Amino acid sequence: MESGALDDTRFIGYRRKLIEEIRAKGVDDLEILQLFDKVPRHLFVPEAMWPRAYEDAPIPIGYGQTTSQPSLLAHYLKILRPTKDDKVLEIGTGCGYFTAILALAADRVYSIERIRELSQRARKVLDQLGIRNVALLVGDGTIGWKKYAPYDVIVVAAASPSIPPALVDQLGDGGRMLIPVGGRDTQELVLVRKDGFIVTEETVPGPVKFVPLLGEFAWKPERE
Ligand code: SAH
Repeated sequence: MESGALDDTRFIGYRRKLIEEIRAKGVDDLEILQLFDKVPRHLFVPEAMWPRAYEDAPIPIGYGQTTSQPSLLAHYLKILRPTKDDKVLEIGTGCGYFTAILALAADRVYSIERIRELSQRARKVLDQLGIRNVALLVGDGTIGWKKYAPYDVIVVAAASPSIPPALVDQLGDGGRMLIPVGGRDTQELVLVRKDGFIVTEETVPGPVKFVPLLGEFAWKPERE
């Protein structure tokens, strides 16, 4: 990754504070914390949001969408444990911040976003940072990305009324998926695991709040 020249020194201190906050919220795994140190979050959000880029909070990224709270993403990593051998499918590229973090943790990341402009912006920042192990697709993530399946890890960054069946199909043996499931206002994180032919679902304690997953096997886009 080539963040050096792009990474304003002003932000380094803020980023360290963010990492302390993530640690205080229960993720003290050094490998995970280092990922948040390496990826300059401000580059992924609109410049008007730069003063807030290192708050542990969701940030508006335009088009009615938000980038998730970093400590929540850290919890995702703690549960999913992507490794350098893993192929990851991300549904909801958004600004590409989590995509970048996943790309540093995994072998390859395939990420789908339904809003073309967000996908294009994410591509630009990923390119600027020299992150090359990411493939982006503009489309409906509720049908997954069959071409590169099966995946070791699937992360869904938007809330669904139920688990889209194609995503379970595209999970490989030993694969794990996290998806917020519930109503439009609050959801619970569901961890899906596949071992051979056995698929198990387990709820992670605590409510979460994500923007809606809009697509064929989630909320219907016309209700947007
Ligand atoms: N991890 C992202 C989160 C973005 S919010 C980030 O940190 O920026 C969730 C994103 O999911 C939004 O950008 C939204 O447009 C996208 N989305 C919603 N439904 C989708 C679908 N069916 N397929 C792909 N992307 C979807």
